[in-house]
Amino acid sequence: MSKIEKFIQDIFFPNRCPFCDKFVRWDKLSCEECLIKLPFVDERVCPLCGKEQCICSKGLYYDKCYTVCFYEGIARDGIIALKTKNAINAAEIFADFLSGKIACDEETYDMIIPVPMSNGKKAERGYNQAEEIAKFISQRTKIPLNSNILSKKGGNIEQHALNAEERALNAKNEFFVKENVNLNGKKIILCDDVITTGNTLNECARLLKSLGALRIACAVAATTSLKNE
Ligand SMILES: [Zn+2]
Ligand SMILES: [Zn+2]
Repeated sequence: MSKIEKFIQDIFFPNRCPFCDKFVRWDKLSCEECLIKLPFVDERVCPLCGKEQCICSKGLYYDKCYTVCFYEGIARDGIIALKTKNAINAAEIFADFLSGKIACDEETYDMIIPVPMSNGKKAERGYNQAEEIAKFISQRTKIPLNSNILSKKGGNIEQHALNAEERALNAKNEFFVKENVNLNGKKIILCDDVITTGNTLNECARLLKSLGALRIACAVAATTSLKNE
């Protein structure tokens, strides 16, 4: 969206901070206070699996994981607002941090792929929050976005209603390759809003590696911390 479009939109839909819901200037993404209060991840989070309680021994198909925040406090509020109240500002803020991390890394990437949402859910919500984050990362890093390779079935089983074993099996049955492309030698960023068990990202990474992908780095806005699991 251009600056003038943002300015005009603000007249009809005043811009709000996605973390505390306060009004903010049309050209800001959040209020200053929230930005410094975000629960940023620290060295407790494993840079390879993206979890505080390392899951690397589970046999992961992805190679590393960039994360911004712990999924708690205002970061959690922002992600919930992104999912339920169209708070796209949150996607842009998390994408800014993730793009910075990707740019600092010596690794280069060929493509960004968002974790898909089922068509039914996307129609209901109007957008896929993972894809919104991925779009902003693509804009900033100039790495092309591809939302056509992976897809998700319309199943409506909520992950949190399942135990660990059922979650892993559910993830395995939910995602599929929509467009059978050759990803030989490609280095891919797989983007999602939150990493919880890692099963979703791992299953998507498995599918991408089955198409030949060489390396997969996950880029997620938030990771659940030990005290919230
Ligand atoms: Zn705020
Ligand atoms: Zn790990």
